[in-house]
Amino acid sequence: MQVDVLTIFPHFFTGPFDHGVLSRARKAGVVSIETHDLRAFTQDRHRTVDDRPFGGGEGMVLKPEPIWNCLESLGLAPRPASAPAKQQVVLLSAQGARFTQAVAAELAVLDRVVLLCGRYEGIDERINELVCDRELSIGDYVLSGGELAAAVIIDAVVRLLPGVLGNPDSSRFESFGAGDPGEEYVPGSVPPSTHGSGGLLDYPHYTRPAEFRGVPVPQVLQGGDHVAIRRWRRQRALEKTFRNRPDLLQRAILTEADRKFLSVLEVQGRVENGGSS
Ligand code: SAM
Repeated sequence: MQVDVLTIFPHFFTGPFDHGVLSRARKAGVVSIETHDLRAFTQDRHRTVDDRPFGGGEGMVLKPEPIWNCLESLGLAPRPASAPAKQQVVLLSAQGARFTQAVAAELAVLDRVVLLCGRYEGIDERINELVCDRELSIGDYVLSGGELAAAVIIDAVVRLLPGVLGNPDSSRFESFGAGDPGEEYVPGSVPPSTHGSGGLLDYPHYTRPAEFRGVPVPQVLQGGDHVAIRRWRRQRALEKTFRNRPDLLQRAILTEADRKFLSVLEVQGRVENGGSS
């Protein structure tokens, strides 16, 4: 995958992609990430990238010309008549559609993703109209610039590219993953994952020592009973999702056993709330 990032702060990206999974993916040639300094595409002595907003009001707006010139140098402006289906120009914006794991998976099948980072009050809207394929927000809060959002999106997308994670099941059976909880476990074998997902949050993880500050690792994880471990993890994933992100349960893939367990949690919740809900 080719990723291009358009920014007025290219040095911002010195570091975020030089560690762990991303660094390995770059070294292996799975992804190439290039930053483009919008100031290099200005034509005045002061390398001006912003100007006052038409209509008055707060702050400054990123001018369209440097962005257009940069996109033109990349063959993306004007929008090619037959733009390859497997490339997208993405505007980072608090006004965008929510970036989720499902959107990350959509981007991960593309050959090229171009990320446009706003600053100040944002970019001149005509760039959005003329060349952007989608507008994405990483959450309901306002950042000072699109650079952090771009780094978040790149990280989430690159780890989904084939070959980046050692075990492809890692991304299927983690929080928000698409792994089907109904997948058969063959007794005696090591299960594919034991066993979250189907759109739930992940279950809690533990490592050595078996006891830390007086708190032991749950007994079930210390035995070799894969069926019991799988059931315990599934229930903890359901519990976490129920408590922290009940909205995810609407779209989750749930088994009959999951639904029964959730109704127990609901009853418990009502009892804890003194029967008020
Ligand atoms: N005036 C804008 C508004 O109220 O929606 C906020 C502009 S913000 C200070 C500057 C830039 O940060 C935006 O153009 C965008 O690129 C980026 N940004 C801010 N919040 C973001 C978010 N939640 N997701 C993605 N990008 C964001």
